[in-house]
Order: sequence, then C-alpha cells, then structure tokens
Amino acid sequence: MTETNLELRRVELRAHVLRLPISQPVRTSFGTMHDRPAVLVQARDADGAEGWGEAWCNFPPCGAEHRGRLIDTVLSAHLREREFESPAAAFAHLHEATAVLALQSGEPGPFAQAIAGVDLALWDLVARRNAQPLWRLLGGSDPTVGVYASGINPEHPERVVRARRDDGYRAFKLKIGFGTDIDIPNIERVVEAAGDGATVMVDANQGWSLEQALRMAVVLDRFDLAWIEEPLRADRPWSEWQELQRHSRTPLAAGENVAGARGFEELLASGAVRVVQPDVAKWGGISGCLPVVRRIRAQGATYAPHFLGAGIGLLHSAHLLAATGGGMLEVDSNPNALRSLLCGPLARPGDGRATLTEVEGIGVRPDIPALRELCAASRSSD
Ligand SMILES: [Mg+2]
Repeated sequence: MTETNLELRRVELRAHVLRLPISQPVRTSFGTMHDRPAVLVQARDADGAEGWGEAWCNFPPCGAEHRGRLIDTVLSAHLREREFESPAAAFAHLHEATAVLALQSGEPGPFAQAIAGVDLALWDLVARRNAQPLWRLLGGSDPTVGVYASGINPEHPERVVRARRDDGYRAFKLKIGFGTDIDIPNIERVVEAAGDGATVMVDANQGWSLEQALRMAVVLDRFDLAWIEEPLRADRPWSEWQELQRHSRTPLAAGENVAGARGFEELLASGAVRVVQPDVAKWGGISGCLPVVRRIRAQGATYAPHFLGAGIGLLHSAHLLAATGGGMLEVDSNPNALRSLLCGPLARPGDGRATLTEVEGIGVRPDIPALRELCAASRSSD
C-alpha cells in the first residue's frame, strides 16, 4: 500500500461568494435571510491537486463577502509561499499567524469561519491527491450516515415533515421558542406527521432564560424527544446547563455556537450536554473538529454535526461523521439549490440514511460559472 501524502506546498486560495435569491425568506429570532449565501473555497497545491471547502456565512446577511475577502486577502498570503506536512499543520499556522489580528479586529468568529473553510478545502485536496474518498482517508470503514430534516419552521411544520418523510427522512427537528401555545401544538403535529418509529427533536435557538427552560423541560418531557437543542444561550455558565440537565429527562444538545478546543473541553467537562454539535464550517474544519469528535465519542456523548449552508460544507460534515461514527447529520429542509445541487448522495436519503460514494475527496466539484448563472437567473426571475 502506498503511503498517504498529506503534504501541502505553496497552496493558492480563492474564495467564491455566491448568493441565491429565494422566494420565501428564512426567518429566525435573530435575523432573516432574503437569499442563501455561500462562501466556497478553492485551494490548489503547487503539484496541481485541487480541493474545495466552505466557510459558514449565514449571519449577518451582509457577511459572506467579508469572509470571502478574509480568505483572498489575509489567509492566502499565509499559505502561498509555505510548505506544510499536513492540513492540520496549515490549520495551526493559520490560527497562530492571525491570532493577534483576529483579536485586534474583534473578529475571532469570521476569522475562525474563514480558516475552517480553508481547512476543509485542504482536506479535500489531499484526499483527491491520494485518490481516496475523504471518509476513508480519515480512517472510516462505513460510508453510510444517518440524516435528519432540520430548519422546520413554526408555520405548518407538519407539511414540511410529510414532504421530507416522502423524501426518505425518518427524523425531524422543529424550531420552538415561540410560546407554549405555538410550540406544543406544533410538536404534537410533527410527532403525528412523522409517524410510527420516527425521531423528533426540538431547537430553541438559545431562546430561553434558565427559569423559562426549567418550566419548558417539564412540558417537553411529556414527549419522547431525542434532544432539546440550545434551550439556553451558548454563553450562559455551564452551571445553568447542569441545573437544567438535572431537571430534564430529555437530553440537551449544543455546540454550533461553541468555538475552539478549549470551548468544547469545557462543554464536555460540564457533563450537561449529551448531544454535541460542532460545525466544521464555523470553527475547526476537519483539523480542529476531528480531535473534538474523538473526545465526544470517548466520553460516551453523541456527535451530531451541525450544518446550515451549501452542499460542499454539508458533504464535509457527512464525511467526518462517516469517518468517526456517531449520531445523525443535520440537513436543512428549506429550499436551497446551492445545497441540493452540490450535496451528492445526501440529496436522496433512503430510510433515514445516506451512503457516501467512492469518488475521491468529498466526491463533488462545484461548477462555479454554472452556479453564478443559476444565481443570476434566479435574480432576474424575481
Ligand atoms: Mg440549532
């Protein structure tokens, strides 16, 4: 067997920022999306090998172009003239080289997201060079992953659940936090529409105080929910999460708004979160998240990757999940061609599971001119 070559030499980066207009805005408690942005990252090694990544960029709505510029004007200079023994070494260098700048600009988040997108592109690049699917390069042996339908809004959630059930989903996550008079009938409708044997979970999107969450935990325990996601703000002390966990039979989930190895260390040390949800495009990429996922698994907690964006980041999330094992992958239910056209086998799960291919890397290479045309055509048809 030939040895895996993870080396990187004089990598050139290029960010491609896309915005797909949508007819129905996506609403959350903290902002509305009037289009679906995506920051796709292209990396090319001196030997010609190429890879693709994606950086998280959903909020605020103007932020995608900024992440793209960080990649093109700041991060690219740190890779262009250098050599690294692996993507993990490049990831460490990018964080170290920009640490002061991220502090000075007050932008640790955008920097972490831009670096995560670059890291994903570098892992795809080395997997393609080694002619292996990324899930196998990362040590996986089973290419199937569980999936669930996410982003189910409070307006007629049962309709979305029925449609996604027909698409092959068997697990569904409902947005709550809109008051018990809306939340509880919605959960009942979703449980009914999901059908026998289905899995249902809820996401409060950091919407409650500890007092509210304690009250809701009693109500939610009536349902057989797989988890309650972000009942509290991600910056509340872990002692509050621990108190809530003691009063909730339903497992608590969090992680999409946690960053850094130390942040996940503290989350795991609290013992309060049983479903842990790092987002590879928001912090860490593969290099940062792989050790975190190993710690999650070693502790007996469940790894359930968070993701809400285009198909490239979703595929990376799926490959990491297939490589490590764990819970289900989040797949957005809202229409977004930048996801559905780019996510390969994840567009059509069968009986709640999707099987990644044997194609090298993440298995998909975006056609940027075609995607730009699609965005322009959608704009002119508005
Ligand atoms: Mg969430």
